[in-house]
Amino acid sequence: MHGLWQEIAGLVLPAECAGCGLPRSVLCDRCRAELCGRQPERVWPQPRPAGLPPVHAAARYGGAVRAVLLAHKERGRLGLAEPLGAALAGAAAMAGARGRAGGVRGRGGPLLLVPVPSARRAVAGRGHDAGRRIALAAARALRAGGLPARVVPGLRLRRAVADQSGLGAQQRRANVTGAMGVAAGVERLWRPGRPVVLVDDLMTTGASLVEAARALRACGGDVAGAAVVAAVPRLAGFHRRETGTDRERPAFLRETARKHLNGGTWR
Ligand SMILES: [Zn+2]
Repeated sequence: MHGLWQEIAGLVLPAECAGCGLPRSVLCDRCRAELCGRQPERVWPQPRPAGLPPVHAAARYGGAVRAVLLAHKERGRLGLAEPLGAALAGAAAMAGARGRAGGVRGRGGPLLLVPVPSARRAVAGRGHDAGRRIALAAARALRAGGLPARVVPGLRLRRAVADQSGLGAQQRRANVTGAMGVAAGVERLWRPGRPVVLVDDLMTTGASLVEAARALRACGGDVAGAAVVAAVPRLAGFHRRETGTDRERPAFLRETARKHLNGGTWR
């Protein structure tokens, strides 16, 4: 009910830009460009944890990007899921192109996006599962851009974990190591040449992504990479250009931009 009310309130109440406070705009052009307008970057935490798949980030955490992620997750501005999903879609397309014969549009069926699960108590407290909502929006954006994609909520937390925010690097690792497992029957989705892309809103130390990749690999999942909306610049290295996958992205995102970014669906 909480979530439904937030959704209804978001439709009828006048909004201000979640990034900068500009009135009468869910997300202004400038903040949307900061979130979705960059070429996704290959990123890695420093230090780089063992077992981390290649990660692509749509944006750098800070300023408007931070404000938008927090407004969506903590304050229930659910209309922001679409632009956040569009940002994640670009990073997921690049992550999915890796290790896939024929690139991201190659054979093997739809791109499988597996969200990193959030602490159940945090989800209950917020009234919605922000990560899963953004993943679903990303899959919609990918499909609108002509790329078949689906969300597979195949990861489960096997024990209670603390919310990662506020924990240091070692605490984060201890908090999540061995904590994730897969949903029953998820391995039936695995096919040769159909890699999985982990998706999350934010990468800080990479601990959650490492644990999620471990759990999927343990049941035979082919984890091609991970995609996040944003990475924390203070904690991460960035590499903008990537041979091979870069060539795919502009055509894909031009299409997404035409259908989504300029379509007025969330203005
Ligand atoms: Zn703004």
